[in-house]
Amino acid sequence: MRVVRNSAEMQTLAVERRSRGVTVALVPTMGALHEGHLSLVRLAHEHGDEVDVTLFVNPAQFGPGEDLSQYPRTFERDVELCRAAGVSTVFCPDVGQVYAADHSTQVAETRLSTGLCGAHRPGHFDGVVTVVAKLFNIMLPSSAVFGSKDFQQARVIRRMVRDLNFPVRIVLAPIVREPDGLAMSSRNRYLSAREREQALSISRALKGAEAEAADGALDTEALGKSVESAMDAAGLTVQYVVCVDADTLEPVARLERPVLLAVAAFIGKTRLIDNVVLDLAAGADPSQAGLTPVRQG
Ligand code: AMP
Repeated sequence: MRVVRNSAEMQTLAVERRSRGVTVALVPTMGALHEGHLSLVRLAHEHGDEVDVTLFVNPAQFGPGEDLSQYPRTFERDVELCRAAGVSTVFCPDVGQVYAADHSTQVAETRLSTGLCGAHRPGHFDGVVTVVAKLFNIMLPSSAVFGSKDFQQARVIRRMVRDLNFPVRIVLAPIVREPDGLAMSSRNRYLSAREREQALSISRALKGAEAEAADGALDTEALGKSVESAMDAAGLTVQYVVCVDADTLEPVARLERPVLLAVAAFIGKTRLIDNVVLDLAAGADPSQAGLTPVRQG
């Protein structure tokens, strides 16, 4: 396994590899790897001859007052996990390798990125799509795997790839959860034992909404309210609970087509997100492992 820190070296390597006909599936991450990331790596092996992982805490996607400086960094362990997972190249540039000091170009997606997290984290998705576009140009993958834990992010990146004609197939991976239901996240490390218990209310509330939907509750406002009050009751500060069309991310009133029920909440200072896709017609949503399948009737 190669560990590359230099962008020009990485790009030269990627061009050479492509000229040999080798296909690459890329897993972009901010490091502090956990089983959710590793599930993406396993899926990536099905989509390329080689799998590359990026470890890069991207300052451009953090807002003022967010947790950029505290974000967990576990570099040595991440590299060993990648090695054990059969990764070919770990690309771990420092900020100066990714952004020229006088850079003045960025990518912006202007529709799917405006609601949900985008409404509360101005500039966040500009930072995300810009770095992903740059990583695609540096690493030249033929596919890239993203987790549905960050459902909006995956939708925004798919749109960017379509709109800008990147020759990259975007693969969506299911959410990986702890045995008790908590969605895995690098930020779970911030939680005290008590906060972790409180955080469980998120997945429990989503699971409850799934059960309500399966029992015929089709009104998204009522579903959202019950999710919000369950999280409130656990002492969380809810940032948003939304039911949106899983494709367009536009608000919907009834569960008549696949609906993304997405939440963001603070437990103390830690902001966590989670979601479930409610798709009554399709039954269980394969991208939502760990939550009870929703069935019609
Ligand atoms: P991050 O390092 O948090 O930027 O995440 C890197 C990638 O891993 C993104 O595509 C995330 O959606 C994905 N990811 C993070 N947590 C999970 C999880 N619990 N299950 C599946 N994918 C995840």
